[in-house]
Amino acid sequence: MNLIFLGFPGSGKGTQAKLLASRNAFVHISTGDLFREEIKNGSDLGKLVNSYIEKGNLVPDDIVIAVIENKIKDMENVDKILFDGFPRTVEQAEALDNLLEKYSSKIDKVLFFEISENEIIDRIVYRINCPKCGKIYNLKTNPPKNDETCDICGVKLVQRKDDNEEVVLNRIKVYKEQTSPLISYYRTQGVFYLIDASKSQEEVYNQILSYLN
Ligand code: AMP
Repeated sequence: MNLIFLGFPGSGKGTQAKLLASRNAFVHISTGDLFREEIKNGSDLGKLVNSYIEKGNLVPDDIVIAVIENKIKDMENVDKILFDGFPRTVEQAEALDNLLEKYSSKIDKVLFFEISENEIIDRIVYRINCPKCGKIYNLKTNPPKNDETCDICGVKLVQRKDDNEEVVLNRIKVYKEQTSPLISYYRTQGVFYLIDASKSQEEVYNQILSYLN
């Protein structure tokens, strides 16, 4: 079963994707995480995508699709993937459908993380994460046990550069214009499911499990 987690930035998809992937053996593909890794490594791709990410704009479709194609081509089974933050445009969704078809595979379920716009900004500006293991915290609602260090790795937590209010407002605008058409794209395919992402982490996780079973 291949899944897509879709929703506004800050809706909790990344946190839930990491949980589900670790507990249920999905291959987690987050284009945002892949791009941040390239930026950290200082690669040419990293330099290129950084110019879009730091402004809160989308990386062009051809680059994103090439990264996904490259990621999938080495996989033994293209059938238990959790796509997180991809696709983000109808063009990407169509490219993904075509790509999966080549492997006799398809998208089985798209879980849409529904949350109000007001909640997003608060969630994002208080979001910090571990640069080593990627665990995501929120200084208000889900703080680390010790002052701004990761509960698991003990290293100092950091804030993403694009998690500031100005960039977030653009990310929300971009989402509405370019990503929200995916809702009707997947509704039409009959694979669309709503998650109430305003609930607690555990409740959201249980909603996800109920759709998978
Ligand atoms: P995320 O971690 O999913 O919030 O992504 C962080 C940033 O990476 C986004 O604001 C975009 O600039 C870029 N990005 C991630 N995934 C995609 C995608 N599928 N298409 C275009 N840009 C993306």
